[in-house]
Amino acid sequence: MRSVRVTVLGTAQDGGVPQPGCVRDCCRNVRSNDALRRFPVSLGIVGSDGTTHLIEASRSMGEQFEIWHSVDPVNGPLSSLSITHAHLGHIDGLGLFGKEVMNAKNLIVHCSKSVANLIESNPLWRTLREEGVICPNIWNPNEAFEPSPGCGFKIRPVPVPHRDELSDNHAIIIEGEGLKLLFMPDHDSWEGTLSGLSIRQWLSNLEVDIALIDGTFWDENELRNRDMSEVPHPTVSESLQRLGSRGHGDPDIRFLHLNHTNPLCNPSSAENKELATKGWGLASEGDSFTLERL
Ligand SMILES: [Zn+2]
Ligand SMILES: [Zn+2]
Ligand SMILES: [Zn+2]
Repeated sequence: MRSVRVTVLGTAQDGGVPQPGCVRDCCRNVRSNDALRRFPVSLGIVGSDGTTHLIEASRSMGEQFEIWHSVDPVNGPLSSLSITHAHLGHIDGLGLFGKEVMNAKNLIVHCSKSVANLIESNPLWRTLREEGVICPNIWNPNEAFEPSPGCGFKIRPVPVPHRDELSDNHAIIIEGEGLKLLFMPDHDSWEGTLSGLSIRQWLSNLEVDIALIDGTFWDENELRNRDMSEVPHPTVSESLQRLGSRGHGDPDIRFLHLNHTNPLCNPSSAENKELATKGWGLASEGDSFTLERL
């Protein structure tokens, strides 16, 4: 039996970095340096039985599988896909499983009832279900399940408030035999998510050891021509204010889901230094975590 391993396959907000249509320095610099590119958030998990499981279906799945396979050279079709919510970058790669590309057979898609309903109401995605490409399987909130029998880990969907014009939203906890990893790329606000707890208390109640959390924006000044209330997320500055510095026994917290405007996209920014000084991290594509207590 091998250890369960989670690999980060994407760290950007739904638009990716560089973002289509952005001609400002944030994206111009990335276009001239491939190492700075980021794909929409996604995780790849290899179970203890060697089965493979994907979290989120992004349109950059092709490149993301290359990242995954450079860490874990696995063969064979995916055993499951899980989708947190129906915003663009988390689901828009679903069509890649169809016959034009991967030609998947009965791929189990774990998701909430509202995401399954949306799949059923979209002609493109319903066809995938009718043709036996995907097989949606509805999870119960807060109830951990094995994404495939004997894979050696469980997924626990945790309801988290986030703009719900298309579907509801869940953070997910990947529970290995030893460690638990939280993946929470999107939420509207800490007030809504924590219901009165501190971030540390909330993570501790969920028994989380590693937390990959929403780092969409650095602060409120980032979207020059848009009202930030249209796309609410707690800023990294606010999260750092709530967290202070990392102390002994604190979980390994790393930010992801970065918007192209976020100064954390630039590795030499002052904001990156501040994050590192406080002892917290930035998720990178290719980061991998063995869910085993050493
Ligand atoms: Zn998103
Ligand atoms: Zn940009
Ligand atoms: Zn979203």
